[in-house]
Amino acid sequence: MASMQFTLQSKLPSVGTTIFTVMTRMANEYGAINLSQGFPGYEIDGDLKALVDKYIVAGENQYAPLAGVPDLLEAIAEKKKQLYGCELDPQEEITITHGATEGIFSGVTALIHPGDEVIYFEPAYDAYLPAIQLNGGVGVPIRLKGPDYRIDWSQVRQAVSPKTKMIMVNSPHNPTGSIWTKSDVAHLRELVERTEIYILSDEVYQHVIFDGLLHESILSYPDLRSRALVTMSFGKTFHATGWRVGYTIAPPELTRELRKVHQFNTFSINRPFQHALAEYLQRPERYQMLSEFFQQKRDLFRAAIADSPFELLACSGTYFQSVSYRQFSDKSDMDMAVWLTKEIGVACIPVSAFYSDDTDERILRFCFAKEDSVLTEAGKRLSAL
Ligand code: GLN
Repeated sequence: MASMQFTLQSKLPSVGTTIFTVMTRMANEYGAINLSQGFPGYEIDGDLKALVDKYIVAGENQYAPLAGVPDLLEAIAEKKKQLYGCELDPQEEITITHGATEGIFSGVTALIHPGDEVIYFEPAYDAYLPAIQLNGGVGVPIRLKGPDYRIDWSQVRQAVSPKTKMIMVNSPHNPTGSIWTKSDVAHLRELVERTEIYILSDEVYQHVIFDGLLHESILSYPDLRSRALVTMSFGKTFHATGWRVGYTIAPPELTRELRKVHQFNTFSINRPFQHALAEYLQRPERYQMLSEFFQQKRDLFRAAIADSPFELLACSGTYFQSVSYRQFSDKSDMDMAVWLTKEIGVACIPVSAFYSDDTDERILRFCFAKEDSVLTEAGKRLSAL
């Protein structure tokens, strides 16, 4: 029987497998230390594991409400009030999502129509642009300015057009570790005032910020919050990236639209983990210590590669350290990452993967959310180059 010939028309023709999967696979294949994909290399807190057990045994094993279990929504509202002084209605303004990635995807899907323009900043986390494109939107990338990766706000003003529907922002910033200052917030406020531009703010590293600096959350500014979707992540905050639990905060009108998508995308997020997180959140010191915890790791890793030929770039937040190797090699960053994985035994992420046009500035990103001994060993290998 003759088989039907399909003409497959990809919706994402220029997208391959995400770099995080590619590099982790390669690290495993070659037995390299994996500092590529961003995930913790140590155990989560035993108390948190015990809480999951507790709620599974207690029978909390059926569908959660589509927005999230009430005790978790309330615990999040209380936490945000303490941190950013905002009054949230837990039932109307918070939605538990399948990691922050689902929050971003459902948020963009809810608001972006074909032809709408979305301004975002490159290098950019690799999930942003596909979410825009799958919805028929047009990504408008603006290059962050090295060496400290700041936003040139005059360039942003020029990029705004009558079709601009959303600006996506991310602080602390993956992959560069730069963070927003009060001046960035002031520029954004001025820019969107009297427009109908939405903001999507990816704040998954809200608690990973160094040197006494403070996180500038969109939630702290009522005028910005009233037009924003803010995505956060328990995977990053409690070292449990495999749980895939995050949340999105948005005003009621936007939350209603977000949930229309969320309910048919995932319906709801797994229940015993939500109860466990709600109880675990009752002790704020469990996230208040994160900056100190990761700053020690950042400093250890920086010291461990201080004598390597790499040039260390600034890192004010996130658990990523970027380095430049322009001064000693002209290899592409992908070739360099592959070579380091296979020959030196340390895997990292080539930062060109964060640019829509594959801009290659000969920069690599290393994840330092690992055991100290692992960071020291990786440092030794990189220093022997
Ligand atoms: N956010 C993590 C990173 O930047 C990885 C997420 C993923 O693998 N999808 O490395």
